[in-house]
Amino acid sequence: MNILVINAGSSSLKYQLFDMDTQSIVAKGLCERIGIDGKFTYKPQVEGKEAINAIDIPMPTHNEAIQAVLKALVDEKNGVLKSMSEIDAVGHRVLHGGQKFTKSMLVDDTVLAAIEECIPLGPLHNPANLMGIRACAEVMPGVPQVTVFDTAFHQTMPKSSYIYAIPYEYYEKYSVRRYGFHGTSHRYVSAQAIELLGGKAEGTKVITCHLGNGSSLAAVKDGKCFDTSMGLTPLEGVPMGTRSGSMDPAIVEFIANKEGISTSETLTMLNKKSGVLGISGVSSDFRDLDSAAAQGNERAELALEIFAYDVKKYIGSYVAAMNGVDAIVFTAGLGENSAEMRERITNGLDYLGIEIDKEKNAVRGTVDITGKNSKVKVFVIPTNEELVIAMDTQEIVNNLKK
Ligand code: AMP
Repeated sequence: MNILVINAGSSSLKYQLFDMDTQSIVAKGLCERIGIDGKFTYKPQVEGKEAINAIDIPMPTHNEAIQAVLKALVDEKNGVLKSMSEIDAVGHRVLHGGQKFTKSMLVDDTVLAAIEECIPLGPLHNPANLMGIRACAEVMPGVPQVTVFDTAFHQTMPKSSYIYAIPYEYYEKYSVRRYGFHGTSHRYVSAQAIELLGGKAEGTKVITCHLGNGSSLAAVKDGKCFDTSMGLTPLEGVPMGTRSGSMDPAIVEFIANKEGISTSETLTMLNKKSGVLGISGVSSDFRDLDSAAAQGNERAELALEIFAYDVKKYIGSYVAAMNGVDAIVFTAGLGENSAEMRERITNGLDYLGIEIDKEKNAVRGTVDITGKNSKVKVFVIPTNEELVIAMDTQEIVNNLKK
């Protein structure tokens, strides 16, 4: 079975074609500057096939982007499929499923309407995700489409984890509550950790740290999400590349007044100019911060320290919330690749029984970095959100055939 996985943004569209017999990527790439001019990249993963790198293809809408993807996939010389009919299904990443979606869904009119209803909760992403789905429906009529929601895994949280301490009527009237994001990643790596712990979800307590440009943590009890650090939007939680993470909400009005800017401009500042970029003034990229800090840049060092400190505090709070922890998992760009950040975060958690083996931690690709005296397992597990989307899509399409 061949499954095309699509992650559509407002002006971009990432794609990966999976061969599900081998669970491998056959081709992948990116459409950029949709609605502006259009740049197309195609990277076949099959020997002898040539890549296309950022060529100009007019893409006034997502439809032309999908058409360009299909054209490249079935190209006589460098394509990986004989015809479009070899694509059995399409899986889409959708940011916000609100309270409506607790699992991945086959796209139909009701699902589309519900994603639309969630636009106020995900105003930047959901419209773009819908454009991707509608473009596929037009360009590939009859091919089943599945939506995989970033929020779905977190829908098992108890009310005490997701209700904010503001008048309850805002939850009732506007569904203002914690939703959480990166759910596909937290689901995947927590399931992998549970396998490593023996395979039985019941009774397990896992804390997953998805640390990348965007970062979030989840407390996973019995294989189900119990709490997570992102909130109504991805702005809450630990500081990120450019997002502030949690802070005193009164800062919004204070800065808006002082700077003479609107609330929405202040929120843009909190989303795009804050986090480790805001603290350091250097970069949102942790590699740049590492090198700046190594050269003595104090604010870069401070940004790294604050990031590690906040992640550590979340770990501590989730240990308390679950009354223990069996495994801590590090994943995503920073979590998977930065031994130094993993060391900063776990340093001083020995009271909680959490210690890493510094030598194992330094060897790239080591999954189990648990220290000799650690009571808690510490794992580095590469996330694979696209594969989860492809697997969910395959399962739903297979069930259709039954
Ligand atoms: P992601 O959003 O998951 O793609 O992660 C991107 C972030 O991971 C960027 O801030 C990168 O700087 C960071 N990252 C990737 N590799 C490394 C590394 N070897 N050391 C430090 N940070 C890294």
